[in-house]
Amino acid sequence: MAVDSALSSPLGPPACEKDAKALQFIEEMTRNADAVQERVLAEILSRNAETEYLKRFKLGGATDRKTFKSKVPVITYEDVQPEIQRIANGDRSAILSSHPISEFLTSSGTSAGERKLMPTIKEELDRRQLLYSLLMPVMNLYVPDLDKGKGLYFLFVKSETRTPSGLLARPVLTSYYKSDHFKTRPYDPYNVYTSPNEAILCPDSFQSMYTQMLCGLIERNHVLRLGAVFASGLLRAIRFLQLNWPELAHDISAGSLNSRVTDPAIRDYMCHVMKPDPKLAEFVEQECSKENWEGIITRIWPNTKYLDVIVTGAMAQYIPTLNYYSGGLPLACTMYASSECYFGLNLNPMCKPSEVSYTIMPNMAYFEFLPHESSRVDSSAPPKLVDLADVEVGKEYELVITTYAGLNRYRVGDILRVTGFHNSAPQFHFVRRKNVLLSIDSDKTDESELQRAVENASKLLAEFKTSVVEYTSYADTKTIPGHYVIYWELLTKDDSANLPSHEVLNRCCLEMEESLNSVYRQCRVADHSIGPLEIRVVKSGTFEELMDYAISRGASINQYKVPRCVNFTPIMELLDSRVVSVHFSQRLPHWSPQRRR
Ligand code: AMP
Repeated sequence: MAVDSALSSPLGPPACEKDAKALQFIEEMTRNADAVQERVLAEILSRNAETEYLKRFKLGGATDRKTFKSKVPVITYEDVQPEIQRIANGDRSAILSSHPISEFLTSSGTSAGERKLMPTIKEELDRRQLLYSLLMPVMNLYVPDLDKGKGLYFLFVKSETRTPSGLLARPVLTSYYKSDHFKTRPYDPYNVYTSPNEAILCPDSFQSMYTQMLCGLIERNHVLRLGAVFASGLLRAIRFLQLNWPELAHDISAGSLNSRVTDPAIRDYMCHVMKPDPKLAEFVEQECSKENWEGIITRIWPNTKYLDVIVTGAMAQYIPTLNYYSGGLPLACTMYASSECYFGLNLNPMCKPSEVSYTIMPNMAYFEFLPHESSRVDSSAPPKLVDLADVEVGKEYELVITTYAGLNRYRVGDILRVTGFHNSAPQFHFVRRKNVLLSIDSDKTDESELQRAVENASKLLAEFKTSVVEYTSYADTKTIPGHYVIYWELLTKDDSANLPSHEVLNRCCLEMEESLNSVYRQCRVADHSIGPLEIRVVKSGTFEELMDYAISRGASINQYKVPRCVNFTPIMELLDSRVVSVHFSQRLPHWSPQRRR
């Protein structure tokens, strides 16, 4: 049912009055992008004028863009880390923000191996909530009748810790799901989940996933959309079904809940939901016991209209697998956000993944754009940051933000390309995150981390007079969960020495994992979203062949560098055809929620 034409929006006819208001808000914000940005900066600067950080730059009460840009430096996390550490240690003075820091959000981006701590303030929750409230009104423009069923979303909380002074440190989504904004959200027929809060909020990932899957199966005919935050999460749910369907079917048949689910809140909730349904159990068994899982999503949830998962950026590697399991259902990427700040949304969510563009909402923070090297004409001159409304179509920029919570001119590390405008607000294709070599789930491993991991692991080879002469890596997402593959070419200096055994090389795999950052290790240990690291030893001379191949394709012999990550099929084939032995981590690396520093 469309609402009356007075409420109509240039984006399309809203599905209900609430949607009309949301679409109107998007129109207002995007029509006045520059003015909103000016106001947001003035608001941030005036409320934070007395903070220790801003006072350092002697703005003299100015809140305009020109003064701000001329006096306040562009920074990275490491530049502001001393201030963040002081807040974490209990200094409650107004260091970054005049509003008290309510908690730290732990980013999946790391600094010295540990998650970055992003300060946040209470009212940021309202801002995040506001962005969430825009998503369904936009989706309803493209997909009708989403109020006639439910969404099966696999949502999880992760472990949280406290800083030395007792402030909470946890991922942004954990903070959101545990907030009243989420827990006591008013009923909205367009946003009904099959997963009960009790399951989403259960910290044990097995019990949480088991219950969410069970509820999704029980309500299979009501499910209109399936989702997780990232593509890797949805595939993990499919894998979970592959491993656990016999127990799930048993529960459905008996109307009882698996004894491995011990959480009292879940058990309490589920005893009202479960009743024996042998017919459904038989159906689940019949579908899941088939060898071929192609199209399993639409077989089990036949009314699914789309999958709601992010498949842009590093997650694009999962598109073929999602297509396989869903029989090619549309993939909707609805929003672009981070721990530092929520940025914006996709106004055309049913477009192809390769065409996804996010419209940054100018009310969320003050945004600047650092022209990326490839877009700069004169790379010797210092780059000039560009305002949101002034970016140019086709150019690439790094996102720089100034937030209400006290990050000033902070480089997020994301590279975006402008694809067009909605009104005066630019739309961006997410190009990539800077310096990420390998990523399977939320982990981000850069070149220096990989280098250090190889160095540490190769110490185990010293007693065999063997060293790693060359290496490269590959994110193997054909397995679920995906895992890191590292190709090693070895050199043994002394022919009479013992060669490193299979066990030693297995230990090298574990040693590499121990050296990787805490997000990687958490994915391995707590989330089980990354499989054991694999080392493939290749024949000596393989990397020279790799160079010959690159040169034959036009690389300059003087400038050739071994790529530290590969994904081009002919190169993979070359490497794989030279493998002499394969080794895996036999144990989990160490990880605990406590930070090492
Ligand atoms: P975190 O700080 O752990 O919350 O991670 C935020 C980062 O995830 C962003 O800075 C991006 O690099 C990435 N990200 C978030 N949303 C998207 C998206 N829609 N597409 C691609 N990458 C995204």
